[in-house]
Amino acid sequence: MPLTYKIAALAGDGIGPEVMAEAIELLQRCAELDDFRVELTESLVGGAAIDAKGKALPEETLSNCEVSDAVLFGSVGGPQWEKLPPNEQPERAALLPLRKHFSLFANLRPALCLPELSAASPLRPDLVQGGFEILCIRELTGGLYFGQPKGTRKEHGDTIAVDTMVYRKSEVERIANLAFQIARLRKRKLVSVDKANVLENSLLWRAVLKEIAQEYPEVELTHLLVDNAAMQFIRAPKTFDVVVTENLFGDILSDELAMLTGSIGMLPSASLGTGQHGYYRFGLYEPSGGSAPDIAGQGVANPIAQILSVAMMLRYSFHLNDSAARIESAVRKTIANGLRTRDIWSEGTDLVSTKEIGLEIRANLED
Ligand code: NAD
Repeated sequence: MPLTYKIAALAGDGIGPEVMAEAIELLQRCAELDDFRVELTESLVGGAAIDAKGKALPEETLSNCEVSDAVLFGSVGGPQWEKLPPNEQPERAALLPLRKHFSLFANLRPALCLPELSAASPLRPDLVQGGFEILCIRELTGGLYFGQPKGTRKEHGDTIAVDTMVYRKSEVERIANLAFQIARLRKRKLVSVDKANVLENSLLWRAVLKEIAQEYPEVELTHLLVDNAAMQFIRAPKTFDVVVTENLFGDILSDELAMLTGSIGMLPSASLGTGQHGYYRFGLYEPSGGSAPDIAGQGVANPIAQILSVAMMLRYSFHLNDSAARIESAVRKTIANGLRTRDIWSEGTDLVSTKEIGLEIRANLED
């Protein structure tokens, strides 16, 4: 009897439904090839849910996610909803509550630069020749964004704004263990980024990383100060594999890394939770980019970020590593064969639509 995985698909707005359609067809084909079953529910989220149900995250959508093993998310937002009050806007009212509800504490963003697309990188060709892939693991629920006290007050005729950076040892242990487990499955190299020359938080962070490293002797751990890390990513991106860091540093560095690849439509992401359904780890998987309203409805969006999000879901939530690798190699082959959507097109390659590239990736699954 094949195993069944329950997935909530939330396509959202803009290009979301177009790229989600390709991702779902590919997932179903992959399930046939690798003999597993997928039970899929599709629900409204974001602006589409505001229009149909009056709120960005309707109860029905949330309960579909609750009974699922993972969420495959498209993207939300667009100019139609920008006039709404800030806390009713699609991203704020759908994505943030979902992250909170499922305690999604780790954000994984691979910066993937395939050899054939290295010309899209803003870096010098000799630095990116042959491509690179750096996986940035960002702690998502602690640190400066959530620490108390927080606020702005008047004092002695001046205005003071306060944010507080707080990390508990248990929070650092949780993300460190995850980072080592992931690094162990890859090149066994983990770089931890902090600011231990200035911040108390970073002293704790570094001490915990060193302590947890004892449990993973096969993984080589190194430490970089955040300012140096920002420089080294540009100087020598090919020397990195897995990077782990706290919330604020990760927010900034993951965008820097995405920019180094030059192709936002290629980049997936995962947000992993503490929730465990048996052997499965709950996670939310989505493209790194947004709903791209400028190209929505034209059939030109690149579905690869959404498709690689499916691969991440199979690997990190369901431990289907071979199926994940099958999808990733189908994407690599499609790019190597010269097919390109408009965002990654260059002279001498074949310009194709969202559907055409999706079809080709599905065909390449069988190799
Ligand atoms: P964006 O990522 O949507 O678009 C930036 C540029 O990248 C655009 O030119 C777009 O055409 C291009 N692009 C992005 N994904 C692409 C793809 N798959 N294929 C081809 N081209 C692609 O960012 P933005 O313009 O700042 O935001 C647009 C909307 O998306 C806003 O409403 C914003 O709030 C929302 N947004 C949502 C999320 C999310 O749902 N997680 C994330 C970021 C932005």
